[in-house]
Amino acid sequence: MKEDLWRLLAVMSGSFIIGLLTGQILLCLLTGLSGYVYWQYRAFKQLLLWLQKRSQHETPEHSGLVDQIAREFDYRRSRHNKRKKKLSNYLKRFQKAVAALPDAIVVLGENDKIEWANEKARKYIGVRWPQDSEQRISNLIRYPELLSFLEDASKHSPEKHIEIVAPADAELQLEIRVSPYGNNQRLLVARNITKLHRINQMRTDFIANASHELRTPLTVISGYLEAFSDDDNGSPTVWQDQISRMRRQADRMRTMIESLLKLASLESEQKPSSEKRINVPDIITSICQEAIQLSGGLNPHKITFDIDPELWLKGDEKDLHSAFSNLVFNAVKYSPKGSDIQIDWYQDNNGAHFAATDSGEGIAPEHISRLTERFYRVDPGRSRDKGGTGLGLAIVKHVLVKHRATLEIESAIGRGSTFRCDFPVDLIVQPDSIPLSI
Ligand code: ADP
Repeated sequence: MKEDLWRLLAVMSGSFIIGLLTGQILLCLLTGLSGYVYWQYRAFKQLLLWLQKRSQHETPEHSGLVDQIAREFDYRRSRHNKRKKKLSNYLKRFQKAVAALPDAIVVLGENDKIEWANEKARKYIGVRWPQDSEQRISNLIRYPELLSFLEDASKHSPEKHIEIVAPADAELQLEIRVSPYGNNQRLLVARNITKLHRINQMRTDFIANASHELRTPLTVISGYLEAFSDDDNGSPTVWQDQISRMRRQADRMRTMIESLLKLASLESEQKPSSEKRINVPDIITSICQEAIQLSGGLNPHKITFDIDPELWLKGDEKDLHSAFSNLVFNAVKYSPKGSDIQIDWYQDNNGAHFAATDSGEGIAPEHISRLTERFYRVDPGRSRDKGGTGLGLAIVKHVLVKHRATLEIESAIGRGSTFRCDFPVDLIVQPDSIPLSI
C-alpha cells in the first residue's frame, strides 16, 4: 500500500517538475496521472488473468497492492487445498471403516435412490456400488416384504426390524432396519443373523420333537391312570386319592405338551396358515359359554359380553380361537368369584378390537412387559394351582403377530386388567362378502 502511494507521489512530483520546466503544469500532471492509472489497470488485468488461468499465465510481477493480493490469494488457496486433502482423507478412512463393517449399509436419498452402499450390500442384498448409484432400490430388489417395510418405515420406530431371506443369497437370513437421518435420507442396515436363526430353529425343532416324543408315553400313562381310577377295576380304595392326583398332573403335562407344540407350529409359520373368512362373533360367543362353565356353570363371575355380530375377520380360525380363549379363561382364572368380567368385540377407525376386562387381582406394572414370555408367571404357585402352564399369553402373542395384530395390556393391582387385541382394518370382512380366494 505504502509503496503504491510513494510511487504515485513520485509520478506526480516528476510530472509537476516537468510542468514547471515546460510551463504546462496541469497538462503534465494529467498525463502523469493517466499514465499511472493505465499502469495500475494493466497490473490488475494481469492479476485477473493469473487468477482465472493460473497455469497459462505468469505470476504478476508488480510490487505493491497487486502483489499483496496475489500472495494472499496464493496463501488461501494452499490452505484450502490442505483442508480439502485432509477432509478427503477422513472420508476415505470413514468409507474404508464402513466398508469393513460386517453389516450391509445402503444410503438412500430422495425417492429411495441409492446414494452409497458398501461391499456387503452387494453380497447380502444385491446392491452394487457404484454401478447402482442413483437407482431406486425398488427397481433392484423385488422383495414385497422388504419393499412394504421400506414404504412404512417412516411410520414405525427405528428399533423395528424385519427378518428375511437374503435377496442375493438364499442361504443367508437377514435382519433389516431402516433409520431416517439428515435431509430426507435413510440408512438401510442389513445384519447377517443366519447363525442366530439356525440356533432358534434348532431350539424350536428340539422343543417340538421332545414334546412330540413325550405325547405317546403320556397317553399310555393317562390311559392306565384312568383305568386305575375306575373302582370297578378292583384298584385299592386307599390309592384313589394318589391316583386322582397323578391324573391331574398327567392332564397338566398333556396341556403343556399341546401348548408347546402349538407354539412351535406358530413359530414356524410367518403368516396365518389359512386366511378364510372367520365368524369371530360365533367363536367369542362359544368361548364365553365355555367360560361360564369354567367359572362354575351358574355364571358366578357375572360374565357379560358386547359382541358386534357383523364383524368378521380373515385369518386362521383355530389360532384366533386359541388366542381369545386364553384371554377369557385367564380373566376367569385370575379374578375371584362374584366379580365382573366384560368381553367386547367391536370396530372403530383403527380396526377390530377384542377386549377381555376383569375386575380381579390385577398385575403390577413391572410384570406387564414380560407376560408374553414363555413360562413367565407373576405368581408361579398360584398359576400352577389354577392349572396354568405359563404359555397362554406367549401363544396369544404369536397368533396376533401372525395376524399383524398387537396386544395391549392395562392393569392395576386390586382393580383388574384389560387385555386388548387390536387387528388392522384390512383384516375386517363383512359377513355377507364374497368368499376370499385362499
Ligand atoms: P398361565 O397359564 O400361568 O395363566 P399365561 O401365559 O396365560 O400363563 O399368563 C401368564 C401370567 O400372567 C399368569 O401366570 C398370571 O400371573 C398373569 N395373568 C394373565 N392373565 C391375567 C389376568 N387376567 N389377571 C391377572 N393376572 C393375569
